[in-house]
Amino acid sequence: MRTKQFKSESKKLMDMMIHSIYTHKEIFLREIISNASDALDKLYFRSLTDSSVGLSADDFVIRITVDKDARTLTVSDNGCGMTEDELDANLGTIAKSGSSAFKAENEKTENVDIIGQFGVGFYSAFMVSDDVTVITKAFGSDQAFCWHSTGADGYTVAPGEKDSFGTDVIMHLKDDTEDEKYSEFLDPYRISSLVKKYSDYIRHPIQMMFPTKKPIEGKENEYEDVLEDRTLNSRIPLWKKNKNEITEEEYNRFYQDKFFDYDAPARVIHVATEGQATYHALLFIPKHPAFDYYTKEYEKGLQLYSRGVLIMDKCADLLPDYFSFVKGLVDSEDLSLNISREMLQHDGQLKLIAKTLEKKIKSELEKMLKNDREAYEAFFKSFGAQLKFGIYNDYGMHQDTLKDLLLFPSSFEKKPVTLKEYRERMPEDQKNIYYGCGETVEKIEILPQCDAVRAKGYEILYLTENVDEFALKMMRAYDEKTFINICDESLDLSSEEDKKALESENEQAKGLFDAMKEILGDAVSSVRFTDKLNEHPVCLTSEGGVSLEMEKTLNAMPGAEQNKVKATLILEINHRHAIAEKLQSLAESNRDELEKYTKLLYGEACLIGGKSVADPLEHSRLVCELMTK
Ligand code: ADP
Repeated sequence: MRTKQFKSESKKLMDMMIHSIYTHKEIFLREIISNASDALDKLYFRSLTDSSVGLSADDFVIRITVDKDARTLTVSDNGCGMTEDELDANLGTIAKSGSSAFKAENEKTENVDIIGQFGVGFYSAFMVSDDVTVITKAFGSDQAFCWHSTGADGYTVAPGEKDSFGTDVIMHLKDDTEDEKYSEFLDPYRISSLVKKYSDYIRHPIQMMFPTKKPIEGKENEYEDVLEDRTLNSRIPLWKKNKNEITEEEYNRFYQDKFFDYDAPARVIHVATEGQATYHALLFIPKHPAFDYYTKEYEKGLQLYSRGVLIMDKCADLLPDYFSFVKGLVDSEDLSLNISREMLQHDGQLKLIAKTLEKKIKSELEKMLKNDREAYEAFFKSFGAQLKFGIYNDYGMHQDTLKDLLLFPSSFEKKPVTLKEYRERMPEDQKNIYYGCGETVEKIEILPQCDAVRAKGYEILYLTENVDEFALKMMRAYDEKTFINICDESLDLSSEEDKKALESENEQAKGLFDAMKEILGDAVSSVRFTDKLNEHPVCLTSEGGVSLEMEKTLNAMPGAEQNKVKATLILEINHRHAIAEKLQSLAESNRDELEKYTKLLYGEACLIGGKSVADPLEHSRLVCELMTK
């Protein structure tokens, strides 16, 4: 018998398998089982039109046998089998899909991760075995053939013995080393858990004789060791079942088992479609973030199955970043097992699926917002920040998708409101949407600038998270109403008449303000009167787009030390307050006192606005001086 050489690419791949340091060698079982399942499918389809097959759907079986003494693991199927030529062609060359991908990858680098990226198929058996025998008999043929190889040296094909059609893949496991315990693949429990992990939803039963204890008849509490024939896979995936046949509990258990959550999901989205893209999807919106959700270790993605076989654990392309909290899976009829990550990125089918799923997630959230406000508010507490980042990222590209999913607490009700609700109850004369920023709702509520807005009967959104104002700035407006920070100089609530009056007051006090500006130096860009304060004497107003809160957030970011951002601030003084008159008289009579008053007022404005006082000692000294006068 002549030993044949593998085709050159196959030889390279084979070399790689034999010397693999790949950590997930266990996937070889998934590959061999998938091949068996495909062979069963082929014969099953034939049986639909060819009665000579003589098998019904339930007769197609994959059987796993372990032989500890011989150190072999065998995967058998009663599928289509292979003829001599097919054996030569199929197992002498790596399959077409794999081989072209392999070539492309191999030309670039010696990338060992190729194993993770491609379903490498049959050759993966050589990651764990040093001797592989395939005995196969094609359906309709009466001669079996035996393929045998101990690795890269080549393979032989010779006539063999087999009772009926189908294929046995007999893998002799490598010797254990210090690092690798190949014997684990002889352990029925290990095999069973691998089948559950990777091949649970193969449609055909995967059977194995399982060691168990059976009570001995007539003897109490005595057992004998027996072998029991078990089906290891659950076969019908939950996602392929009819929605109305699945209980809430089943969904919950499935989610909790598979995605390791101690809590049931907030929402389940179960999709089955046919047409442009044929796939099933089962998605879950968790109730709370995973422990690592807001860290950079968190990997988004959905599990990707191809006809019941897991091909990727976290397919990131299926989820946009702003919905990265969603867990679940997609099972597509149209994807090949051998598809690589890079190929997936360009897969039109996958893009189409991702688009539809995004819409489904969005509409599920909208439904929750509409019908179950309490649940939505809890959801938003967990993941609202992610939605707001979604608005801010990618230059605001996704704002239309996300804007109606936002919630902010407001001055009307202490509970969160949507932008739509805010917009719908805006009084006729209100031109803009107003918001205030601060660490807490309570701190925003006491901002002096709130007075004038509230006096008008306008609602104020309270923004307490760092990302909030950046998101609103990115949106600029909602339904044509511009977002205005109540602490920004663009806040404009006065009538033309009032404005004119204030302008002339400011004109007259120019000398005072110039003096105050000189005292404060770069801390403020100018000083002026305002008519928007009720009882408060002073406030800080920003101009130029960077608010005090944004200044804080930007400067707290890593790397900001060298490049500090500074909000441009105007010190505004309540023209109705007694302090206005006092300042004017000091400007004329006592420059020394004016300096102290100015510094104190600026300090107060900082404290009220949530900014720290630059020199707390001086501030305290000045206060005491005044107190003891
Ligand atoms: P792939 O499954 O991606 O085509 P493999 O290297 O795993 O690549 O297998 C190569 C080919 O060998 C398969 O396409 C199939 O035609 C054949 N084959 C493998 N295992 C079996 C089997 N158990 N029964 C019948 N044919 C098989």
